[in-house]
Amino acid sequence: PANASALIASVPTGVWIDGAARPASGSAEFEVRNPATGDVLTTIADATVADADAALTSATAAAKAWAATAPRERSTILRRAWELVIERTEDFALLMTIEMGKTLAESRGEVAYGAEFLRWFSEEAVRVGGRTATAPSGNGRILVTKEPVGPCLAITPWNFPLAMGTRKIGPALAAGCTVIVKPAEDTPLTTMLLAQVFADAGLPAGVLSVLPTMDAPNVVAALMSDPRLRKVSFTGSTRVGKKLIAQSADQVLRTSMELGGNAPFIVFDDADISAAVDGAMAAKMRNGGEACTAANRLLVHNSVREEFTAALTERIAATTVGAGYVEGTALGPLINARQRDSVAALVSEAVESGARVRTGGAAVDAPGYFFEPTVIDEVPAGQRILSEEIFGPVAVITGFDTEDEAIALANNTEYGLAAYFYTQSLDRMLRVSSALEAGMVGVNRGVISDPAAPFGGVKQSGLGSEGGSEGIDEYLNTKYIALTP
Ligand code: ADP
Repeated sequence: PANASALIASVPTGVWIDGAARPASGSAEFEVRNPATGDVLTTIADATVADADAALTSATAAAKAWAATAPRERSTILRRAWELVIERTEDFALLMTIEMGKTLAESRGEVAYGAEFLRWFSEEAVRVGGRTATAPSGNGRILVTKEPVGPCLAITPWNFPLAMGTRKIGPALAAGCTVIVKPAEDTPLTTMLLAQVFADAGLPAGVLSVLPTMDAPNVVAALMSDPRLRKVSFTGSTRVGKKLIAQSADQVLRTSMELGGNAPFIVFDDADISAAVDGAMAAKMRNGGEACTAANRLLVHNSVREEFTAALTERIAATTVGAGYVEGTALGPLINARQRDSVAALVSEAVESGARVRTGGAAVDAPGYFFEPTVIDEVPAGQRILSEEIFGPVAVITGFDTEDEAIALANNTEYGLAAYFYTQSLDRMLRVSSALEAGMVGVNRGVISDPAAPFGGVKQSGLGSEGGSEGIDEYLNTKYIALTP
């Protein structure tokens, strides 16, 4: 789009260390592409292990003073950053659309959602408590205080370029920690603009660093094996998360892990079907299906299955595909060719094994990384598409006959992030909510993310919570001070 080049030119494209952008040591750069065309948008510094060391030196030097800053001052800086992100909504939205692909409407939604973590944690910054108690023996006092964990590493994915950063940076800064962000290779520009906004908001140099790099494994390993780092917070695949958990053993790092999902979306026979179709559209098609909370398996009672499937198919088939910055687009491209090919492989394997395509079913044969909005059903048991995260605009519908069967199907996965169900029975709402093995449950709604609520998974979907009043605890250590008398 016309205004994109001026915007890109205004984004810092170095490594962000000591409060400013500079070339990577070695001066290498890598390309950032527009997934709607495959064209190069710009090049950006490719941070090395030497840059990682410099960032950690800077984060360590700034740590003590930042931890000692008045909570109200940290709160004010976060609040100012929130205001600046909101003021620059159109810039952040366009940047996310051109580097990640989602529609402008969705990008604007992410700006509001992502910025809100900064406002929320500006409010939490002044409410970090502790407690006191009398020792049961009566001859002592127990004083419990909270302290920032120290320099943190935040590794973010490409699907929500702004919100996945602010969800970690917000609580870390509120708690008094310094942070180094390693943004995803595909979408580093949004994080760079955010670093600039934090500098504009008055954040002291060294408190926030950004290391865009094509060499994540080595840059991250160097940071995680350095005793100056105290915590790693990761959002991404379970595969990489497991590696990082193993690596975190070396320095016994605090970890927060937001990993993959395989969300069930259950429609019971007593559901409001039209509301369930709306919810399924949101839970499946939001962000083009590229969300770890995306409905991966639609489980529908057999008595309402055809009604639901026909209505959902009609909605999905009517979805307009195109570049996210083109007016009227409802579904943008996938992030890259690898992701598009991975979705295509899951669908074609299922179809070859006998699944039925109700609409879509193939990659779009055009520049960019598009996949048709798709509905399939009658998928034979055991297909990969039923157990793996699809991360694309593909709705997979499976029938069931009883509530017990639906719950067993829903829980039959090593993941446990989000789950959704539709019913009008209060008994069933309570019973099924507690039976589902998931960290987050949406009842009669297809969107659950809220900065004021704890986001996190169980089983192989992760460790810890982000957002809510819980989110700041991930960045605080508990200290016990024994007093006499
Ligand atoms: P996806 O497969 O969806 O891209 P990943 O889990 O691979 O998700 O990526 C999430 C983040 O983890 C990105 O910032 C990526 O650069 C980073 N990453 C990938 N591999 C490693 C690794 N071996 N060590 C550290 N970070 C990694």
